[in-house]
Amino acid sequence: MGSRGFKIATIGSHSALQILRGAKDEGFGTIAVCEKERDEPYRHFGVADRIILLDSFKKFMEIENDLISENSIVIPHGTFLDAVTTEKIELLKVPYFGNKKILKWEVDRAMQREWLRKAGLTLPRIFRGPDDIDVPAIIKFYGAKGGKGFFLAKSRDEFDRKIEEHKGKAYIIQEYIVGAPIYIHYFYSPLSGEIELMSFDKRYESNVDSIGRIAAKDQLDMGLDTSYNITGNVPLVVRESLLPKIFEMGRAVIEASKKIEKRGIFGPFSLETVITPDLKFYVFEISARIVAGTNHYISGSPYTALKYKEPMSTGRRISREIRNAIASDQLCKVLG
Ligand code: ATP
Repeated sequence: MGSRGFKIATIGSHSALQILRGAKDEGFGTIAVCEKERDEPYRHFGVADRIILLDSFKKFMEIENDLISENSIVIPHGTFLDAVTTEKIELLKVPYFGNKKILKWEVDRAMQREWLRKAGLTLPRIFRGPDDIDVPAIIKFYGAKGGKGFFLAKSRDEFDRKIEEHKGKAYIIQEYIVGAPIYIHYFYSPLSGEIELMSFDKRYESNVDSIGRIAAKDQLDMGLDTSYNITGNVPLVVRESLLPKIFEMGRAVIEASKKIEKRGIFGPFSLETVITPDLKFYVFEISARIVAGTNHYISGSPYTALKYKEPMSTGRRISREIRNAIASDQLCKVLG
């Protein structure tokens, strides 16, 4: 067996369905770690050979030895990082797919900016304080996850009025880029050295994506403010002539990651971008792991269909990489 008795384990949320399904497709046994009464999807879709139930994901460390005795390799995703936290992830003894050391470069907004700058990407301006707001700005809270509570302000006065209900929270003020949001899903193989373009999505956010359904006059009458709370993801293909630039940006991120952390980033990652009308990419965030926008492509995306002769989700691609690493005795190359 190509899996050599290893099992793929992850937390039951975010993108676990495709991670576990992909692992099975690649011949691995699978384990889903679920919160009590939230395990139905993992039973229903038959993706987990074993389900471990916890009162809360925060207790993940308590079952680490169980996972080790099962010969597990854990796969991180957004909920995993949130629940286990980067500090504890660094201490994990169970084999972990990806580079743990790169995570702090994602979590800390200032470090993330340094990384993206080193890659030579175009980033939205950051204002030192509300007095500097001279173009429309978006106010983002730290650890907001999913854009909850973010708001727009065009001036100090507007900022002061809107920040009232968020007193005490840490925030950054960023230039608001008007354009088309596009989230790019990449996979970088440390075995082949190749960057792969997996898919794209855009987010479906409440209420910003529904505000156009209300006439401008009514928006003003209702005193509506926009917010960016994520509710889902929409699949996307991009204008083909943009693809060379998209590959170039992904490669630049990988090269820069090797300058900030010896082994750099590997496995799946995503750039969150806005494309302006003159087709310039502004990058406002990087996710250094699988993103939920890839959930559309459990049976492959238009791009993976070009590269693979079989359905290839990002979840499956992770297990394919692990399988290839096992087969060539290079497992340590894909573990962090
Ligand atoms: P997550 O960690 O889930 O990606 P987050 O809380 O870090 O979310 P962001 O992804 O930075 O939040 O932003 C949430 C949303 O706000 C984006 O999807 C996008 O619609 C909008 N947004 C963020 N920054 C900008 C910007 N500079 N210009 C225009 N829109 C933006």
